[in-house]
Amino acid sequence: MDRSLLMIPGPIEVEPEVLAALAAKPESHVSPAFIERFGRCLERLREVFRAPEGQPFVVAGSGTLAMELAAVNLIEPGDAVLVVNSGYFSDRYVRLLERCGAQVTQVRAPVGHAPALDEVAAALDRQPFKLLVATHVDTSTGVRVPAQELARLARERDVLSLFDGVCATAGERFEQGAWGADVYLTASQKAVGVPPGLALVMVGPRALAVRQARRAPLPSLYCDWLEWLPIMQAYEARRPAYFATPPVNLIAALAVSLEKLLGEGMEAVWARHARMAGAFRAAWQALGLRLVPESAEVAANTLSAIYYPDGVDGSLVGRIRDEGVIVAGGLHPEIRERYFRVGHMGAVRPNDVLATVGAVERALHAAGHKHAAGAGVAAAQGALVGGDE
Ligand code: PMP
Repeated sequence: MDRSLLMIPGPIEVEPEVLAALAAKPESHVSPAFIERFGRCLERLREVFRAPEGQPFVVAGSGTLAMELAAVNLIEPGDAVLVVNSGYFSDRYVRLLERCGAQVTQVRAPVGHAPALDEVAAALDRQPFKLLVATHVDTSTGVRVPAQELARLARERDVLSLFDGVCATAGERFEQGAWGADVYLTASQKAVGVPPGLALVMVGPRALAVRQARRAPLPSLYCDWLEWLPIMQAYEARRPAYFATPPVNLIAALAVSLEKLLGEGMEAVWARHARMAGAFRAAWQALGLRLVPESAEVAANTLSAIYYPDGVDGSLVGRIRDEGVIVAGGLHPEIRERYFRVGHMGAVRPNDVLATVGAVERALHAAGHKHAAGAGVAAAQGALVGGDE
């Protein structure tokens, strides 16, 4: 068994109980036990997303399917959409929306910055939009956008808002109901704490009403919310239903993970992510490394995006792997060769932080980067110990 530590921004290390659920014998998707499990999952998702009025959809597929599930239902050809673009996954949303026939306008931020709220407000005031789309945390830059304020700007103008939370949900605070965000979506393989394979979409009442009033035919069967709605409602009412076979083991694993998250409590889960991220940031600073996010305020709690120091190149990622920790290379096309990424979401604990920082330090040392041995580990440990006081 490989004992290396998986610290990429998804898939992530998952809890042993979650893995055990995946290894169980598949059960019938209409058995009483599965119906109960799935029904509870749907109820629990509302709590994790803080969306008391939301309609959850759990569908087999990756995060890109979650993005597609949202776009194809809401967009009719010609609809105007404002994309608050903070990186690679915002670019992906633009492509997807344009395929649905949307007229896309973008407010872009330079790499490492969150788009400015006054620019977003000005764009919203310039013309009517149906929908505002933002990536809560863009995995290519580690930048978190101010989702609450963006949802407010949209709501004030009667524009729907949609947030891609694939690299944020359950790791960053998001209160869908209270913030008035219409759609929040994620995938199972990140802070939700399950292997890849589930698209999770929470649809608020205004967005569902827009789908119900849609006039243009919807060209996808699998993505149609109205095909899935009676299925989700049936499972919640503890009745059997079938549209397309649910991935029963992944849903059993999700059930375990959601119980664990809610057992800890979302406030505590968000605080733990902030604490782990704080310890990582202390370490990067002590090692003299510069982050892609331009300030701590916009730096995500779910991953670190770190520039290689002078004289060090992408071979660092392999050196870190040789030290027992798997991290990711760059992704944003403008800076791809100049930085690497460390995921810190889900089951990450202080021991994982220290092991990861230690591996990065040894790899930097092997790459010729001069620093006092242990400086990063000491800074992380200081932050972790300080955080306990
Ligand atoms: N959005 C964001 C913010 C992501 O980080 C990812 C995956 N890294 C996706 C969308 C796409 O998810 P998937 O790779 O599961 O299709």
